[in-house]
Amino acid sequence: MTEDGWNTERLHDHFAQSLRIGEMLYDSKTEHQRLKVFQNGTFGRVLTLDDVVQTTEGDNFIYHEMLTHVPILAHGAAKRVLIIGGGDGGIAREVLKHATVDHVTMVEIDAGVVDFSKEYLPMLSQGAFDDPRLNLVIDDGAAFMKETDAKFDVIIVDSTDPIGPGEVLFTDTFYGHAARALTSEGIIVTQNGVPFMQGAELTNTMRAFQALFADATCYLATIPTYVGGPMALGWGSHSESARTVDLATLEARFAAAGIAPDYYTPAVHKAAFALPGYVKKLIP
Ligand code: SAM
Repeated sequence: MTEDGWNTERLHDHFAQSLRIGEMLYDSKTEHQRLKVFQNGTFGRVLTLDDVVQTTEGDNFIYHEMLTHVPILAHGAAKRVLIIGGGDGGIAREVLKHATVDHVTMVEIDAGVVDFSKEYLPMLSQGAFDDPRLNLVIDDGAAFMKETDAKFDVIIVDSTDPIGPGEVLFTDTFYGHAARALTSEGIIVTQNGVPFMQGAELTNTMRAFQALFADATCYLATIPTYVGGPMALGWGSHSESARTVDLATLEARFAAAGIAPDYYTPAVHKAAFALPGYVKKLIP
């Protein structure tokens, strides 16, 4: 909600986050959600959906780099990638930096977020929507996953929180269809909330992943505007070895990829899977 020049996010019952609105650039409802973009003195342009911070110009690199380069470099030969959500284009931007990726399917429920992000947040997609490897599908990710018979090496779920249209992307049914759509060495990674504030979300996903994948855990990255401590990124893989690729191999793959991230490094990749006790306790 907007009050006296501040955007206040009330995602949690007893903890809120307010960002000063330097200038309100856009405020409108799409078919699915209330979409705002405003300028903030610290984070630059801020995108909110139903008043919840989705991504910002200033700190989006952390989240987008860690949700893409970790599974792609762990896999080592990912050619077909599926993005569920990701309407702002940040995930697509980072995936398409990998020349080894042949084809990206992006399934976003709200065309308004895509159209809007192209115009008001071009620094997020940086031309990704024009890349010939990208196939943009406007659909509910859960419906797409149920219907598709395609196979993917990496599935990235860049969804809103499990409220509103994003809720279906946190269900056993969705995860079951995703497991079927992954190749034998496939990896799925998910936006799984801030475990200090949304622990049950992580527990639910991990319980579903343990029933579906040879390897089920999460890894952590700290994004300043996803408040309450490090964010958990869910990890499920049919490969028992992808997560334990050694540092030297990751470094060689990273060098060959020729990318220049501002957060991701092979050492950060490995360290991200070292979980503190309170997070481990959330994994059944
Ligand atoms: N990085 C953000 C976060 O961690 O919350 C997510 C950003 S991205 C803007 C989230 C996207 O998920 C939005 O564009 C939203 O429209 C999309 N989305 C929500 N529910 C969806 C669904 N059922 N199928 C496909 N896309 C969905």
